[in-house]
Amino acid sequence: MTDIIPRVRIAPSPTGEPHVGTAYIALFNYLFAKKHGGRFILRIEDTDASRSTREYETKVLDALRWCGLEWDEGPDKGGEYGPYRQSERKDIYRPFVDRIVDNGHGFACFCTPQRLDEMRAAQRAAGQPPKYDGHCLHLAAEEVKSRIAAGEPHVVRMKIPSEGSCKFTDAVYGEVEIPWDAVDMQVLLKADGMPTYHMANVVDDHLMRITHVARGEEWLASVPKHILIYRYLGLEPPVFMHLSLMKNADKSKLSKRKNPTSIPYYAGLGYLPEALMNFLGLFFIQIAEGEELLSMDDLIARFDTDNLSRAGAIFDIQKLDWL
Ligand code: GLU
Ligand code: ZN
Repeated sequence: MTDIIPRVRIAPSPTGEPHVGTAYIALFNYLFAKKHGGRFILRIEDTDASRSTREYETKVLDALRWCGLEWDEGPDKGGEYGPYRQSERKDIYRPFVDRIVDNGHGFACFCTPQRLDEMRAAQRAAGQPPKYDGHCLHLAAEEVKSRIAAGEPHVVRMKIPSEGSCKFTDAVYGEVEIPWDAVDMQVLLKADGMPTYHMANVVDDHLMRITHVARGEEWLASVPKHILIYRYLGLEPPVFMHLSLMKNADKSKLSKRKNPTSIPYYAGLGYLPEALMNFLGLFFIQIAEGEELLSMDDLIARFDTDNLSRAGAIFDIQKLDWL
């Protein structure tokens, strides 16, 4: 399993109703921490100011508490490595971005949204996946300096190796190899000075001393970017564990249309949080059919990361009703 005391986190973006998918990932991290005497951290990833609200943040906190997934450190209770709201950490990220640029691993990009739209449209028309074309990659240092001094809007992007591939081990997926030419020159710092998800996420996982990153498999393709950011900063990446996403019974992506996905919806219907936690726990803990409801302590006792599977976690509402 693990021989270090884990520090794990759930890092929701407060941009909508609290989702059962968040509870599923939170439960996994919570059990992992409790099993090994570690810490479970709640970090609010609200760098997207246009979509994040305090109202949704409160709903996420309430929903996790309703689930019985109380955190050890978080926005409402602090902790040694906070603040735990990314919007309150803006000044913390900047030196990390500067370090990447100063070491020649990042560059200013002055492309207008219009130019990027045209670029992507042309790529799509040619049957290629949209990807930054390196337009500003080789601008002379003097030009960059004077354009920035003149106040021209720009973002900071990361450089990507021109050949080879990124190889890493994921605790669920095993050995993964992603060619660098499939990886975009990710924006690290937006024009308004806010970091992007990728930049803030890596810096915070480092500063908050996160040992294991357990999250949904939709983030697996982002790992090469994250590993590169760690490398550019001379930091050690955490252990990655990408959990299979919950799916509808027909294997399609979990959607509101086929299954209600909001935690308050289940709470409002009178479902017991223990039942929902058991149901979500079934995706990574073996429970025999007909067995009694397991308490959170039972779930902790049975939790084991040694037999994680990539098989889709099927959100079958009838199973929840049965519990
Ligand atoms: N803020 C991301 C989300 O909402 C977190 C992803 C991660 O855990 O790295 O899914
Ligand atoms: Zn550019």
